[in-house]
Amino acid sequence: MIYDVLIIGAGPGGYNAANKASKNGLKVALFEKNKIGGTCLNRGCIPMKSLLSSAKLLNESRNGELYGIKYDNISFDYERVNERKNEVVETLRNGVIKELEKNKVDIIYGEAKLINNNKVICNDNEYEGKNIIIASGSIVSKPPIQGIDLCIDSDKVLETNYELPESLIIIGGGVIGVEIASALSSFGVNITIIEMADRLLATLDKDLGQRLQMFFKKNNIEVITSASVKNIKEENDLKIVEFENKKQELETRTSKQVLIATGRKANIDNLISNDFDLEINKGIVGDEIGKTNYDNVFVIGDCKDNNIQLAHVAEAQADNIIDYILNKELSIDMSVIPSGVYTDPEIAVVGLSEEYLKDNNIEYNTYKYLTGANGKCLIENSESGFVKLLTVDNKIVGGQLICPHATELIAEFAIAIEKKMSIKEFKEVIHPHPTISEMLWNITK
Ligand code: FAD
Repeated sequence: MIYDVLIIGAGPGGYNAANKASKNGLKVALFEKNKIGGTCLNRGCIPMKSLLSSAKLLNESRNGELYGIKYDNISFDYERVNERKNEVVETLRNGVIKELEKNKVDIIYGEAKLINNNKVICNDNEYEGKNIIIASGSIVSKPPIQGIDLCIDSDKVLETNYELPESLIIIGGGVIGVEIASALSSFGVNITIIEMADRLLATLDKDLGQRLQMFFKKNNIEVITSASVKNIKEENDLKIVEFENKKQELETRTSKQVLIATGRKANIDNLISNDFDLEINKGIVGDEIGKTNYDNVFVIGDCKDNNIQLAHVAEAQADNIIDYILNKELSIDMSVIPSGVYTDPEIAVVGLSEEYLKDNNIEYNTYKYLTGANGKCLIENSESGFVKLLTVDNKIVGGQLICPHATELIAEFAIAIEKKMSIKEFKEVIHPHPTISEMLWNITK
């Protein structure tokens, strides 16, 4: 049989593409060498957010007296925290499998190899397809530091039965590093973050990373910035991390475990036959839509060269690729991509950053509103965050939040930017009181 579409990888890119293609009448085979759901569902977004949700509840319980609630001996059972995470993951995975089955997608478990622009081999069987979508995702990338093999990574922390260490050094203060720090510190793990840049979350505007660092300090998380790790050693069941500090002096920190969170790379080893000349850089090269150097071979999600590695980006690209294959107008505007950091407090951004506007000499206005002036934030005991809106010629071009529920609220700014709303148009929409979303409204007044 010749399939309309062969899809390699069943993460959010692959399974969304498979469902949409099938719903539109295309015959689809979806290859997965591990578990349906990919990184996002099994080793990423979902288990991580489940841990963070348990951590948040624990922190809120510890703060109970502030609200007039008294508990005796607050404690936690990390085995149960893990169990709940596993239950959430399993429920979602089963849901995705059911949806794929309902849509009559042929799911083929095994490692797929791309032979040419029409052929995939999996479990020694050959599959032919008119179109091929590569959605093989990403894996942890380890920098060439001496002793790096002594480090664990986020996959380990999110395993079904990870046991908490007494102390953890996290190398890398990006999104994954700070989320793990936020979660595990709540469960009593002594955390040190060592970051090469001059702040946490270095790809975002300075005030966000700095504000997060302030919250981390309050929660006894040590953050060392402008530091370059030189080597990692093991002595007496402890790990010793040596790094060069800001002043270019050598310093060390010691902990039970060290976690590497310095980035991820395209998962493309052994994926493509040596005889197939698909263009590859760090990832598989594709144009804006995801078309490779072969007209019928497409790439989406984390394995695409130079892609923003987010689940909703993979999902949106899946949507557009199937539109393209079906010769339809593309559904999704890829120019506005919100992203969230699920620390406590949450951070979310969308559109242009202040640094980008400055660096490109674009004239802009900043509107900032502090959470301390918002009733609901005070009720929720969050007084040191902010909401920031950036405009160019009165049009909303960027939004940044560090406040409770920031990752939910950011979609409002995303709509405003995508619809090219002006400050005046945004202001016209009544926001309910008392809410945190009210800040987004008040900011414009
Ligand atoms: P993946 O989800 O990586 O799926 C690829 C699949 O392809 C895998 O299942 C893999 O087994 C399979 N595969 C690979 N090669 C083959 C082969 N040869 N044959 C068969 N199958 C193959 N993103 C967010 O948007 N929000 C978050 O909050 C968030 N949190 C994260 C937290 C952590 C700890 C991590 C690690 C990531 C997080 N991400 C988050 C990123 C998100 O998980 C990825 O961007 C997303 O999963 C990418 O989807 P994908 O479909 O491209 O690839």
